[in-house]
Amino acid sequence: MKHTIFCLLSGMMLLASCQKQTEFSYSVDRFYDIEVLRYQVPGFEQLTLPQKTLVYYLTEAALQGRDILFDQNGRYNLRIRRTLEALYTQYPYAKDTEEYQQLENYLKRVWFSNGIHHHYSSDKFLPEFTQEWFVEACAAARVYYDEAILPVMFDPVVMPKRTTQADGVDLVLGSAGNYYGEGVTQAEAEAWYESHKDTSDEPLWIGLNSQLCKDSTGAIYERVYKMGGLYGTALEKVNYWLEKALSVAETDEQREVIAHLIEFNRSGNLRSFNAYCIAWVKDLQSKVDFVNGFTETYTDPLGITGTWESLVNFKDEEATHRTEIISANAQWFEDHSTTDPIYKKEEVKGVSAKVITAAILAGDCYPATPIGINLPNANWIRKAYGSKSVTIDNLVQAYNESAKGNGFNEEFMIDDEIRQRYEQYGARCGDLHTDLHECVGHGSGKLMPGVSKDALKEHASTIEETRADLFALYFLADAKLVELGLLPNQEAYKAAYYQQLMNGLMTQLVRIEPGKDIEEAHMRNRQLIAAWVYDHCENGEMAIVERDGKHYLQINDYDGVRRVVGNMLAEIQRITSEGDYAAAKEMVEAYAVKVDQDLHQEMLTRYAALNLAPYKGFVNPVYRAIYDKKGNIKDVKIDYSEGYVAQHLRYSNDYSTLPDIN
Ligand code: ZN
Repeated sequence: MKHTIFCLLSGMMLLASCQKQTEFSYSVDRFYDIEVLRYQVPGFEQLTLPQKTLVYYLTEAALQGRDILFDQNGRYNLRIRRTLEALYTQYPYAKDTEEYQQLENYLKRVWFSNGIHHHYSSDKFLPEFTQEWFVEACAAARVYYDEAILPVMFDPVVMPKRTTQADGVDLVLGSAGNYYGEGVTQAEAEAWYESHKDTSDEPLWIGLNSQLCKDSTGAIYERVYKMGGLYGTALEKVNYWLEKALSVAETDEQREVIAHLIEFNRSGNLRSFNAYCIAWVKDLQSKVDFVNGFTETYTDPLGITGTWESLVNFKDEEATHRTEIISANAQWFEDHSTTDPIYKKEEVKGVSAKVITAAILAGDCYPATPIGINLPNANWIRKAYGSKSVTIDNLVQAYNESAKGNGFNEEFMIDDEIRQRYEQYGARCGDLHTDLHECVGHGSGKLMPGVSKDALKEHASTIEETRADLFALYFLADAKLVELGLLPNQEAYKAAYYQQLMNGLMTQLVRIEPGKDIEEAHMRNRQLIAAWVYDHCENGEMAIVERDGKHYLQINDYDGVRRVVGNMLAEIQRITSEGDYAAAKEMVEAYAVKVDQDLHQEMLTRYAALNLAPYKGFVNPVYRAIYDKKGNIKDVKIDYSEGYVAQHLRYSNDYSTLPDIN
């Protein structure tokens, strides 16, 4: 599972913060609906030489898989990318023309999406230059290409969607993704999966690492991703670097992880994949950690085959310590919450989440990236061995820093005092809110005897997220956090109160289309909290005021607002503990779903005027190994100066591990 920036930041709209004053320049490039950022890797210099060496080997193993994702996303993608790159670099005429600019923009989009379909919507995007111009330019530049790519690039009805989920459509035939060979239908694929299903106690994830194809007699067969099989030349290179990583692994557990992965890439045997996942969950002591391989299944329309990705990271000890402090005080929080004692847990255990620093992003984690990961995906392994949940702190920080001065706070926050407080404490409060929500919020409270955990039915996830958020919000304002050294003073929490209530009441509406209701569970829970609290602040604790035709949130009494938050927490816990479906339904319908049309239109207009890019992604730093005379690595240097175009041209040059047609 992946957590996106929208889900983990509890709706913080990537706002400003200023934890760190630095000259580091985060913004790298901007095109269409995309902004490209760079991220820092704090702590890399402090790693030991063996750890740096391990990171270096694992980053090389990560980059070797790049072509796999392009091919998984569509069988013409590698041909198209390489033709565009050749034309872009060999174009013989003046480059200050509109068409050449359009070529560059299209290529930037292809790189960003690892193919010709939008990374998020999965719709095909078309070049702005014409087919005639493209054909002539290729001839002039002596770039030879496969004619088959022309309709794929230029005809809007050919392969219009990478992954379709539309009703009444054959999901396999209707998707351009390359998880199924030509002509394979949804019914044929489903029948094959059904007949090969593993029903044992420790099932193999059949189909995770293969393409289903049809032979000349119409029979379905599997092409397995493995050395000597599909994507074999890329996996061979991945393994070359994994072997080196194996030689400098930090612990026996980590050695086992790497060894099983090497074996899986070699043989394609899913038993090795299970062994790799189990070893990975058990490896808790290593400072450096990584994911490498066929992992998430969102892009396969049937949700079975894994897209290739890699993330190399190391533990952020200081931030992880923060989650350990919270977790160690779980019982104190439980005892001091506003809920009725009969609904409290006698013995509550906190969970501590690992906070990590990303060192490289690759495959399906690049350039667009998750900010949190929870793996493995196989349920039986999660039940038997647990899972690892991580938050990627340096990426969150890059998002926050890059949003500084983008005008959002100036437009939507009511005055300088609020803005300054938010700049000072917003990021820290955001981290703490996530920690409290995850480490103690979800685990607090208990159900009354006989109440089913499914009692709240379709409102269960909205109510559960609301409960965890309220728990976090209530304790953010508690002096206990200052006492534990997690917040500097009793002012700081106000930054979170203002931002979250503003977001829930007003600014999150910019992500809803005009006329639509709120459907997504996280957005519902944020409006539910903000609107309920607003409605129950009967003594002027907060207000929405109008200035020069614009509406703003004003908070007059933070203590008063916190009391109402506490009341709501008590009621939501009662609803959960009693399984009171009727009350849950009434509350959600009254506060979480409907949108004030005038306010919505005002938010959309004000937001559009800021001209912010809705999607962001990253370039990676460059790692250079310095060798001594004997050929041993004596240091690894990190360099942040590479730009977006230069990085992709270099990757295409140095990590071209697959043929055009696979
Ligand atoms: Zn949650």
